Amino acid sequence: MALPPLVEPAAELTIDEIRRYSRHLIIPDVGMDGQKRLKNAKVLAVGAGGLGSPALLYLAAAGVGTLGIIDFDTVDESNLQRQIIHGVSDVGRPKAESAADSIREINPLVNVIIHNTALDRDNVMEIFSGYDLIVDGTDNFATRYMVNDAAVLLGKPYVWGSIYRFDGQASVFWEEHGPCYRCLYPEPPPPGMVPSCAEGGVLGVLCASIGSIQVNEAIKLITGIGEPLVGRLMVYDALEMEYRKIKVRKDPNCALCGENPTVTELLEDYEDFCGAVSAEAEEATLNATITARELKDWQDSGKDVFLVDVREPAEWEINRIPGAVLIPKGEILSGEALSRFPQDRQIVLHCKSGVRSAEALAAIKQAGFKDAVHVQGGIVSWVNTVDPSLPSY
Ligand SMILES: [Zn+2]
Repeated sequence: MALPPLVEPAAELTIDEIRRYSRHLIIPDVGMDGQKRLKNAKVLAVGAGGLGSPALLYLAAAGVGTLGIIDFDTVDESNLQRQIIHGVSDVGRPKAESAADSIREINPLVNVIIHNTALDRDNVMEIFSGYDLIVDGTDNFATRYMVNDAAVLLGKPYVWGSIYRFDGQASVFWEEHGPCYRCLYPEPPPPGMVPSCAEGGVLGVLCASIGSIQVNEAIKLITGIGEPLVGRLMVYDALEMEYRKIKVRKDPNCALCGENPTVTELLEDYEDFCGAVSAEAEEATLNATITARELKDWQDSGKDVFLVDVREPAEWEINRIPGAVLIPKGEILSGEALSRFPQDRQIVLHCKSGVRSAEALAAIKQAGFKDAVHVQGGIVSWVNTVDPSLPSY
């Protein structure tokens, strides 16, 4: 399916630009018109790591007029095996700044915008709205789902890529013309099921294979040439040296872009959705975890329990466990709400699924409250095992 160009052409190319991009200009499908569209394009790379490195280098060389880089990380020696936009002298520097310097060296005509910050639910919509196209090179599920949701909610296309060891995948998700990431993967994998590249490794050059597919697709979308990877998943096996294309259909039951969407705004907590628990939280919950049924038994036996719901007010509106008080996780982590916790009572924390309460428990224990536990499975488990009459979400 050919699609119309995503970006309007710039008014003109300068003499310098005509010289620089001559090898593009003489391809009839690109030509002056395509190069002017590239000049006018605003592309954001999420992450200046494995995929972002080759993607940014080629987007810059191709003459994409505005390139945004969002990355909060700093360059580590172990990045240099694959993150070719950074060099030895960049170790310790913010990746966004290091990447920007490399881009300016390759093509000073590119307007580089540095977002030296973590992408989160509070800034993602505003940042994305400044760009025509997103190139997603994130390596974790929480950010990936957030990128997808924000792009769909804003009606923007994005080029997605993923790498692990010798295997890569790429696709273009554009809700208006095809499926989104949630159509392909409705649920994140259970925590710990899919190892990250940091745990499992990645062949450095695989980044170039997948990153170059992403740039290829970005250029096609911007200029409106060829058949973009909308509705198709590219699967690459570097060991077999095999590329396969798999059809991906829009899921009519997709929670985000389906006929009756249940996700109509960004989620409160993508870490929570993806079930990612930090090592500190994991440690804090050891011998400090109770079931919803045990909590009910404590309450019934008259045990003096200080029950804290660490979810957000909007969730508290939907359902709550009798006897609980609402203290959102953020207020506990910032220390702001610690004075509300009693020293002489059993503290019980719960959230929706047990992920945020584990994080809050770590903070509570760190603050010296020894008699604290959290509820495994959170209020979801309470609804399932204690009180099915409560609404769930
Ligand atoms: Zn979808």
